[in-house]
Amino acid sequence: MNSEVQKTDTSRSKHSKPKLIWLNISVFSLTSAIAFIGVPLWGYFVGFDATHWIVTLLCIGYCGMSITAGYHRLWSHKAYETNRWIKLFYAIGGAFAVQNSALHWASDHRIHHRHVDDNDRDPYSAKRGFWYSHIGWMLREYQASRYTDYSNVKDLQRDPIVMWQHRNYLWLTLTVNFGLPIFIGFLHGDVIGMLLTAGFLRLVISHHTTFFINSLAHVWGKQPYSDRNTARDNGFLALLTYGEGYHNFHHHFQNDYRNGIRWWHFDPTKWLIKVLSWLKLAKNLKRSDETKIEMARAEMLLNQTRKKVMHFSLPNKDELLDSLKHEYEVYCAKLAEYYSVKREWVLAQKKQLSDNCDAQSVEIKHKYQQIKALVAQHKENWLNYNKQLKLALA
Ligand SMILES: [Zn+2]
Ligand SMILES: [Zn+2]
Repeated sequence: MNSEVQKTDTSRSKHSKPKLIWLNISVFSLTSAIAFIGVPLWGYFVGFDATHWIVTLLCIGYCGMSITAGYHRLWSHKAYETNRWIKLFYAIGGAFAVQNSALHWASDHRIHHRHVDDNDRDPYSAKRGFWYSHIGWMLREYQASRYTDYSNVKDLQRDPIVMWQHRNYLWLTLTVNFGLPIFIGFLHGDVIGMLLTAGFLRLVISHHTTFFINSLAHVWGKQPYSDRNTARDNGFLALLTYGEGYHNFHHHFQNDYRNGIRWWHFDPTKWLIKVLSWLKLAKNLKRSDETKIEMARAEMLLNQTRKKVMHFSLPNKDELLDSLKHEYEVYCAKLAEYYSVKREWVLAQKKQLSDNCDAQSVEIKHKYQQIKALVAQHKENWLNYNKQLKLALA
């Protein structure tokens, strides 16, 4: 970003309020008014049937997943690769979601990750308050250079689908937002009813569920991986945001195609990408190193317990801190050993050496099973140690 432009933006924002963006204000106000007034009135006087709601839900899913799997994980973070047809599907869905072009969205999002919580540079800094991070940042021309400077998305400028969508964003957005509900409504015999539900209500719900990731996911939830920024993990929010509620993990391991890393974590975006890869429609799915993930958790717990110990004036404080550090180092060393043996075992399996008759394979398998049990024990010891220490201090 041009530093002169940035400096001007920053100083301007400190002295006077930036220009209002009337287009955004009108879109948010009108769509909300129609959804909250028009939908109940039409429902009362005319009524809706199951088709209206099924189509609306499908459209909400299409918009949401185009943003999470397309705009976010594919284009902003390059967490996987896919073909031009899937990209086209996301590009149309992104225009349907009315969240600006993929190029602009990804540029903003990369700035958000790079300068998270920096009130002058993070486009939707949570430290500027809930309203600002949820919607306020789109109502005025804060950091005006964001609207013209796309130097942080040069890779996307080489993507013909991204650039096609960027150039044709306005007509594409109008066509899909009015055309699709009107066409389905025409087939169903209720154009206005479908426009109200699958058009306006769908758009308002889709907008605010995405906006929750910038607002709620930075204030509500746990921080198991890092407290260096405000991002939180929140399972409930993941239900509304197609898996993006695991935001603390995401900020720490942003190129991972998953946000919810456990199999039971509700992350439909991760499942969609996985299914696409099984169908050979996606490849090079990036996963963070498991050792780094577990070590980040251990370090976070170490910091939390350390803070607790530091809070009290104890005569044996140094001793406790040394012992805590020692327990942490023992666990981390065992973790590193475990993942190294696991890698060996995975490699042996890939080379088809896992045959029971193969002596080398049997040895690696045995070593892996032993260390797996051992690291589980070490993990339990580490968690218990922290729990006991915190209880003793409570
Ligand atoms: Zn964030
Ligand atoms: Zn992200």
